[in-house]
Amino acid sequence: MRVRFWGTRGSIAKPGPTTLRYGGNTPCVEVEGADGTLLILDCGTGIHALGQKLAASRKPPLQGHLLISHYHWDHIQGFPFFTPLFIPGNEWHIYGPGGMDHQLQAILAGQMTYSYFPISLEEFGSSVHYHNLGEGAFDIGGLRISTQYTNHPALTLAFRVEAGGASFTYIPDHEPSSLFSFDNGGPGPIPLHLQDRRHVEFLKGSDLLAHDAQYTLQEYPSKVSWGHSPYEKTVEYAVAGGVKRLALFHHDPLRTDRDLDGLVGTAEKMAAKAGGGLEVMAAAEGWEIELPEDPAWKPPPIPASCSAWLSGGGPKTGGTILIVDDDPLMVRLLEKSLEAENAVRLVTAHDGEAALKLAMKERPLLIILDWGLPKMDGIEVCRALRRNEDTLFRKVPILMVTGKRLDEKDVQKCFDAGASDYLTKKFSPTQLRSRVRSWLLRSASA
Ligand SMILES: [Zn+2]
Ligand SMILES: [Zn+2]
Repeated sequence: MRVRFWGTRGSIAKPGPTTLRYGGNTPCVEVEGADGTLLILDCGTGIHALGQKLAASRKPPLQGHLLISHYHWDHIQGFPFFTPLFIPGNEWHIYGPGGMDHQLQAILAGQMTYSYFPISLEEFGSSVHYHNLGEGAFDIGGLRISTQYTNHPALTLAFRVEAGGASFTYIPDHEPSSLFSFDNGGPGPIPLHLQDRRHVEFLKGSDLLAHDAQYTLQEYPSKVSWGHSPYEKTVEYAVAGGVKRLALFHHDPLRTDRDLDGLVGTAEKMAAKAGGGLEVMAAAEGWEIELPEDPAWKPPPIPASCSAWLSGGGPKTGGTILIVDDDPLMVRLLEKSLEAENAVRLVTAHDGEAALKLAMKERPLLIILDWGLPKMDGIEVCRALRRNEDTLFRKVPILMVTGKRLDEKDVQKCFDAGASDYLTKKFSPTQLRSRVRSWLLRSASA
């Protein structure tokens, strides 16, 4: 498997003298399997040069696959400038997160309407196929692709590409759900939040990991809920996951080449201290790496329940979310954050006992549960739901939302009680909406 970086910058393209070595283009990574299967991860401004190279070096018909992590501008801005889409005879498959009212083709068409771009999506000369993805796995040629939602203020998928036993994991945009971690005697700290642990599980054992490292821990307090990682947490993830090589990715537009050298230096020291042999670098435009494949390797079959394909997936209209909070202002804020989700109905309860009764009656797809409640607190409600004889309540996602400043013990208590996830009340509406979407889509395909 060959991996080449064409765009490494996050948020906005940043050409100029301070970004010459690591590059100023937004995310785009080319992956080619030993069998010739061509994948392109994200369509940031870096895809323009890749398109020029492909158009010049390969005769049509060319077949390829564009995988889009999410639709923030920095990941799709190069899409209409990708020349091979316009060449008749070429065939392109495009994949991206879908579900609910979120459909790949409509979103891409949106940035190519009259006001934004002179050519519409229908005018590509090549044959283009669109595929909406959820969490799971699928194969393209000899490549196995696995997907998992990240924590980002838009529905966002991470991609893990495996072939011949080699693995490359691509996680351009992700914010830790919590900075808390604990030591289990392994090489690095293990995240305390269940969703962060799931994240580490996803990237585990990668030969190469390109991971969001936009901020530093020092910068992070003013960037909470913006959807990105301090690089020190990224190093911790890579160490905990036994990754071989980490490429810091999605560089902040204000980070100069020299700043990035400094970050790599500190990250290398952290990795050396942890042991385990993790190699760290900052992803640079033009950097190419070969991950050797073993021709004898065969991926295990994908059970139907683990497929990433969303065919008309997502929750059906009429599905219900139960919001439990005793603060009318918070209920209003939660409702406001979710009002654009047409596919779901919201019901509310204001104390713990009422919440249990309403849960039994409505059998919701998701429960958003405040910690501090009259009569029974959120922890007790959570425990009671998980003990209920109706099996639905053993697996219904419970997202705890709390205004409490949680310490490590609180977080542990929350997950011990059976919560699936938690958010503190400093959340942004887009963050809540993305978290809710990913839970609904996960449970719809479970
Ligand atoms: Zn981004
Ligand atoms: Zn983003």
